[in-house]
Amino acid sequence: MIVRKNDKTVEVELGEKAKERVLSDEEIEKLVDIGEIIEEHYRKPQDVEWAIEKDKIYIVQSRPVTTIGEGKVEGVEEEGEILVKGLGASPGIGVGKVKVILGEGEISKVEEGDILVTTMTTPDMVPAMKRAAAIVTDEGGMTCHAAIVSRELGVPAIVGTKNATEVLEDGMVVTVDGDKGIVYSGALKVEREEVEERAVIAPQIITATEVKVNISIPDAAEKVAKTGADGVGLFRIEHMILGLEKHPMKYIRDGEIDEYIDVLYKEMRKVVKAFYPKSVWIRTLDAPTDEFRAMKGGENEPIEANPMLGFRGIRRDLVEDIHFRAELRAIKKLVDEGYTNVGIMLPLVTSVEEIRKAKQIAIEEKLPLSKVEFGIMVETPAAALIIEDIVKEGIDFISLGTNDLTQYTLAVDRNNENVAYIFSETHPAVMQLIERTIRICKENGVKTSICGQAGSYPHVVEKLVEIGIDSVSANPDAVQTIRETVARIEKKLILDKLRKL
Ligand code: PEP
Ligand code: MG
Repeated sequence: MIVRKNDKTVEVELGEKAKERVLSDEEIEKLVDIGEIIEEHYRKPQDVEWAIEKDKIYIVQSRPVTTIGEGKVEGVEEEGEILVKGLGASPGIGVGKVKVILGEGEISKVEEGDILVTTMTTPDMVPAMKRAAAIVTDEGGMTCHAAIVSRELGVPAIVGTKNATEVLEDGMVVTVDGDKGIVYSGALKVEREEVEERAVIAPQIITATEVKVNISIPDAAEKVAKTGADGVGLFRIEHMILGLEKHPMKYIRDGEIDEYIDVLYKEMRKVVKAFYPKSVWIRTLDAPTDEFRAMKGGENEPIEANPMLGFRGIRRDLVEDIHFRAELRAIKKLVDEGYTNVGIMLPLVTSVEEIRKAKQIAIEEKLPLSKVEFGIMVETPAAALIIEDIVKEGIDFISLGTNDLTQYTLAVDRNNENVAYIFSETHPAVMQLIERTIRICKENGVKTSICGQAGSYPHVVEKLVEIGIDSVSANPDAVQTIRETVARIEKKLILDKLRKL
């Protein structure tokens, strides 16, 4: 050992003492406590240096840990000419050649590593989206098709640029920054983060509040399960259905309901299997008429001035109940096979009667409701305001759909980039609806969760954990950050309690 003696540095042989234990159990416990307080203070894991002299602990240095699970920070290292700006909808940087897609016939133009530029993506573009290095759209907000699908595929994306298809031209080489929402001219130097590696090597933090994940593309399920999420808090099936070869009601009209049920079952199984035994809440169909019209056999979709307020969600499935029954039959096949980790979630509920009717149909379809969780999305002010009556009707869980709840509370079209600046999930009116929903559900033993985009925002999740939400379902790219947020707030709540003792 090297020590200072009489102002000189000398080497001392320790002999057997070198093998002795240095710290007592009590000292270790004290250091752990102090470490947690420091981490809480700086809101990040810390690399702490300390010294002990005569039973007293001295903290001599603390700095953020830069090696655990962080990888390199990804970012554009140099500045370039800004061509287009929009909403950073899926993080990461993509560099490549622009391919502007203005019609179905042009999708095949997109080659591996290209930048897909379009007005708005559609389900038939998903294979091209997988090949793209980045995606840029004119239209859309943070919860549009392009935003949701690209986050799941792990492809950087910018939405709502208004003019990308005009400014960007085929063959231009550009750098797309999906965090900042900027498209730069040229191939800029980029520092890359190994995202997948980060998810795998990041230590799994155990939190009392479950951290789940949202999914919509069954083929991505195995990759998404690697985030270590505690289950699926929202399996959106509409993207998968919109990607089928024809409109669901056309299968039914063509006498092919069994084929349709089989496709649903096989696609759902990919997700339920990838997460087994963790629970997967499958949401029944919620696709607006304008999106369905583009499908083969979708010509009969009613033309609606406001599809967001129209024939969608559970109200539609109760009218076209043969379709609802097909979904339930597919889910029943999974349960009969032993996948009892499924739950059924009804979208866009506005009345108790809708829940009652849906449950009645589930019973008629012999779905074993004792084995399958049955719940609803709270995504209309109506549902939030009559939640007392809803819980009396008998549900196992609710999940806050803050995309729609915010849209309907603030009268802001969530896909309209012109009013995106008003869209705020933390508006006091939205927060009041959220708080009362969680409080009343807790009082009645109904599980609470969130699966809207706000479940991926740390500043919203902090509030929800404080209110006492049971689980949070985030986008795949946000699971780790949200888990860290939840852990930090839970620790803070415990510390606050202890300090009050
Ligand atoms: C929501 O409305 O918050 C939600 C999760 O549902 P979707 O985005 O599919 O409408
Ligand atoms: Mg919704």
